[in-house]
Amino acid sequence: MSIVVQKFGGSSVADAGCIARVASRVARMAEAGHQVVAVVSAMGDSTDDLIALARQINPALPQREMDMLLATGEQQSIALLAMALLHLGRRAVSLTGAQAGVCTDGLYSRAKITHIDCRRIIKELDTDNIVIVAGFQGIDEAGNINTLGRGGSDTSAVALAVALEAELCEIFTDVEGVYTADPRIVKKAWKIPEISYDEMLEMAAMGAQVLQPRSVEVAKQYNMPLHVRSSFKSSRGTIVKEVAKVPREMEKELLVCGIAHDLNILKTTIFDAEDNSRDLARIFLLLAAENINLDMISRSSNRNGKQDISFTTGRDDKQKVEKLLKNLMEEMGLGGFEIVDTLAKVSIVGAGMITNPGVAAGMFQILLEQGIDIDMITTSEIKISCVIDETRVNDAVLALHTGFNLDAEDK
Ligand code: ASP
Ligand code: MG
Repeated sequence: MSIVVQKFGGSSVADAGCIARVASRVARMAEAGHQVVAVVSAMGDSTDDLIALARQINPALPQREMDMLLATGEQQSIALLAMALLHLGRRAVSLTGAQAGVCTDGLYSRAKITHIDCRRIIKELDTDNIVIVAGFQGIDEAGNINTLGRGGSDTSAVALAVALEAELCEIFTDVEGVYTADPRIVKKAWKIPEISYDEMLEMAAMGAQVLQPRSVEVAKQYNMPLHVRSSFKSSRGTIVKEVAKVPREMEKELLVCGIAHDLNILKTTIFDAEDNSRDLARIFLLLAAENINLDMISRSSNRNGKQDISFTTGRDDKQKVEKLLKNLMEEMGLGGFEIVDTLAKVSIVGAGMITNPGVAAGMFQILLEQGIDIDMITTSEIKISCVIDETRVNDAVLALHTGFNLDAEDK
């Protein structure tokens, strides 16, 4: 009998009605003859609510206790979903991350899964249970609860699917799949039927919120196909798999498969650092030691014979970056620094750009025509990102969607 992993995000289990609907969906999969493992997130906005509550009590948000607290969100959903299945007359059992054998590396709030001991899950499946596992959490060697970072239930689901050698991992969410751009901004955006891991990884990392990027990394590494679909409809969503099948008539337009944007950008610039690699390395080592995740980096020698260094991070890191640089100012003789939190990033993603020149030029031209200034630029083989003013994001996304022939009627 094959195993299927189904993951339901917070909006899919937001209230009693939603949970009942998820239960019948899970039960249907079991009736179709599969062994089912359902991975769930915390109900609705409850993770945000718990963080807000903790902030009132201790603004420092002590890491270990934060993970202990946030893990309770998922624990509510698993128990309620198991109850809903029992109510339907199904056999079901809920398991926390620890009970399910999800072992993590001990890094609070951004732990990685080191391995999964599936024995308990298999035992439950073999006694005809539907197994409901709490996403977003695991247990470290010392027995402490760790959480996997925001959106981490996606990664739990994919890792479980891999460990259980599942046939498929379905990710149920409040959108119908992966779109060529955010449909709330672009009315002519459309659902991408199939997308490669690499493209999906770039889309997810660039701000398309449907999947946690790490989950895509795990899926790619183990070649686990993902089906991202709506928990409210039965229509087919987007399949993420090794090679996206390109419908022939679309081949020309597939230079770019999607436009992503991200408002969570914080740009820091350090002025007049000593112009040597040692100081550069030192600054970034210290940022790394604070667990600050960097995205873009640029540096240039300036007229004072020194160097200016810019980098971007998430906005949450503002206080950490500020504190660190204040401490370094005197010690490293920095000229000063500036932190800007009114910027955003737009990205174009597509495997087609590997073999086609002129894509960057096209992007810059389109932004120029809109009168949008470009602050920073980065590229990968299949992505070009530009940092722009946050007030111009919608204009940029719309213009790029049209400019790269992605508008629905052009397909
Ligand atoms: N509940 C967690 C969060 O809100 C994990 C998840 O939803 O995937 O980030
Ligand atoms: Mg999510």
